[in-house]
Amino acid sequence: MRQAGPKFETTDEVDFVIVGSGAAGGVLAKELSSNGFRVVVLEQGPYLTPDQFDHDDLHVFFENALTNKPQLQPTTFRKTSQDKANPQPAVMYGRCVGGSSVHFTANYWRFHEIDFIERSKHGPVAGTGFADWPIPYADLEPYYTKVEWEVGVSGLAGASPFDPPRSKPYAYPPLPVKSGGVIFERAAQKLGWHPFPAPMAILSKPAAGRGACVHCGYCLGFGCEVGAKSSTVASVIPIAERTGRCEIRPDSNVFRIETNERGRVTGVAYFDSQKRQQFQKAKVVVVSANGAETPRLLLLSASKLFPNGLANSSGLVGKYLMPNSFLEVFGVYEHPLNDYKGAAVSRILHDFYEAGAQNGYCGGGGLDSRLAVTPVGFGLGGLPSDAPTWGSAYKSLLREYFTRTMSVSTHGTSLPVESNSFSRHFHRPPRRSEEYCLFDGPRLGNPPGCRCTQDLAPTRPGNAVFRASPRNLPHGQRLENVGYQCRPSCTRCPQSLPMRREQFCYLGARPADHDHPGARLPGC
Ligand SMILES: Cc1cc2nc3c(=O)[nH]c(=O)nc-3n(C[C@H](O)[C@H](O)[C@H](O)COP(=O)(O)OP(=O)(O)OC[C@H]3O[C@@H](n4cnc5c(N)ncnc54)[C@H](O)[C@@H]3O)c2cc1C
Ligand code: SF4
Repeated sequence: MRQAGPKFETTDEVDFVIVGSGAAGGVLAKELSSNGFRVVVLEQGPYLTPDQFDHDDLHVFFENALTNKPQLQPTTFRKTSQDKANPQPAVMYGRCVGGSSVHFTANYWRFHEIDFIERSKHGPVAGTGFADWPIPYADLEPYYTKVEWEVGVSGLAGASPFDPPRSKPYAYPPLPVKSGGVIFERAAQKLGWHPFPAPMAILSKPAAGRGACVHCGYCLGFGCEVGAKSSTVASVIPIAERTGRCEIRPDSNVFRIETNERGRVTGVAYFDSQKRQQFQKAKVVVVSANGAETPRLLLLSASKLFPNGLANSSGLVGKYLMPNSFLEVFGVYEHPLNDYKGAAVSRILHDFYEAGAQNGYCGGGGLDSRLAVTPVGFGLGGLPSDAPTWGSAYKSLLREYFTRTMSVSTHGTSLPVESNSFSRHFHRPPRRSEEYCLFDGPRLGNPPGCRCTQDLAPTRPGNAVFRASPRNLPHGQRLENVGYQCRPSCTRCPQSLPMRREQFCYLGARPADHDHPGARLPGC
């Protein structure tokens, strides 16, 4: 149930206005209001309650029920600054109270110590802004623990030898393993690797008025109907509202942060649910509108005093974006796995988390077993591209594949490259939600997956067929957006990843289509 928070007047100078109620904004709202401050959270999306989340794939994925809508908020995209930027969906994020934490996959492992000191350890990488963090892991550890317990994270402390030190175990025991997780675990152990239960921001036991995961399988992309997924709307936002000092104001699209002649913020201008322009006064403005919208709003708030936008004396706002890289290979087994059930991920390993310079690249990541597809999504994109698309042959292939498929995914870092950036191109006067933003295509550091996934495929147990997926993209990116290259220094990967060419192998495929030797079904 939605808690009724206070209502502030726009003329009330509140202590804090928070723009965006997602993973960051929700936590800040709870912290600030619990510490006595008066807070207004402005969220452009609706306030949805668990009874409004459903399993309607078409509504959620094709009508962007929970995410930003390209029709309403068009973006343009270009691969290099020399190219013409064309209208094209370029980013995807949660657009509702709770932000992207509502529809996210809920993987919740911590950064490792190496993430904070990579530059000192591996040295500079030419053409990048590779740098250490200004703080070490140890400074953040108490806050990781606090968040894990307050939002609700399930996992098994000490299960991975690569885990950074922690002051407390996880708040809840791990979620049950899925069939794909069992296969992954056995295969990885055979290879001498160290799989462990995936830390997930999902309750494995009921708590704080929220249900435990019922393994509905409509998780990635969907809101959780039982409140088990630890989005900020399920976990910390209700606490903030209960303080009586935090108002969540949905359907409020902020388009400008105002400053006075002394350069201090005075509040924010926004469009309300009736598309009327409003101004909320505040002493402090927190911009937690995610990696895409935060720089856009800061750039749009340029003034005489700040001609390059707010907080941009360095000129770096919106630059050096580091999307996480994501590669996925699918395995089709001869027996049903029903891996579509439950939360997306159940087993993971971090043996390649710290891929040092000796591998020809730096910046590693995790490998996990997962399946996060729904029937409609799988029916439209789960089969190899030259599979039949209608009729009984299509139906029987779909029946065969949907129940027998699992995937192994990688999630790696990317290098900070200046041209991975947002810039603005906006209409004057600003019209509601119509400012374009430009996004240079990511030129990523080498994703660890181009090595690990190929290693894993031939050694899989059972008769599985693995194929690379056309969905091997950084989160929030679409295939056509990505100029994806391995860095030339990546010696293990034989070629730039041919992202436009699907590599697949399934019953009846031509041998020339195989990219994973040994990964064949009988008759393939
Ligand atoms: C499909 C998908 C799967 C993911 N899976 C994982 C995962 O498994 N594990 C993980 O750690 N991370 C995952 N992420 C990433 C994670 O969700 C984000 O990193 C995180 O939510 C970012 O938090 P944030 O608060 O910065 O932004 P968000 O959570 O995106 O919140 C920003 C909020 O600001 C609002 N907003 C934006 N502009 C304005 C404006 N002008 N006015 C008012 N409101 C505005 C947005 O509507 C949104 O609600 C995933 C992301 C996606 C897209
Ligand atoms: S799989 Fe579990 S956490 Fe995910 S939406 Fe279903 S019940 Fe919620």
